Amino acid sequence: MTHAILRELYIRNAIRRYRDMARKISRKALIKKADKVFSEYIRRRYANHAEVVSCFTCGKKGHWKTMDAGHFMSRKFYSTRWNQENVQVQCKGCNIFRSGEQYMFGLQLDRKYGPGKSEELLQKSRSLLKLSTPDLIDLIDFFKAKLVKLNN
Ligand SMILES: [Zn+2]
Repeated sequence: MTHAILRELYIRNAIRRYRDMARKISRKALIKKADKVFSEYIRRRYANHAEVVSCFTCGKKGHWKTMDAGHFMSRKFYSTRWNQENVQVQCKGCNIFRSGEQYMFGLQLDRKYGPGKSEELLQKSRSLLKLSTPDLIDLIDFFKAKLVKLNN
């Protein structure tokens, strides 16, 4: 009797653990997909007819495929991770070797969008945003649609 109950509980727990694991994996995959679609959109949105873009922080030009989507506030802050102002085209020199050139990034943000933008993004990055799985799917679809528009 006790054995049967214990076994039942064990099985139920195992099923729950598997479900949680599957949910976690699919969420991770969705975040990865969102990053990919968003990054392509950011790198292509201002591309010219030759598909060339300029680095936001140093002005260096290059094909969008050779450039990065650089974050002003780190990707670890989900509330600004897919923010179209927080993320701009950067050359690999600025994004990787010069760690994102955050000071210049902030100056350029204020120049492009108006004074206070960098401060606003800083505050926003620290606010808590919990994206549900449907939210993530919406986000992916939103930027996919923007990419389709760029192609037309
Ligand atoms: Zn650069």
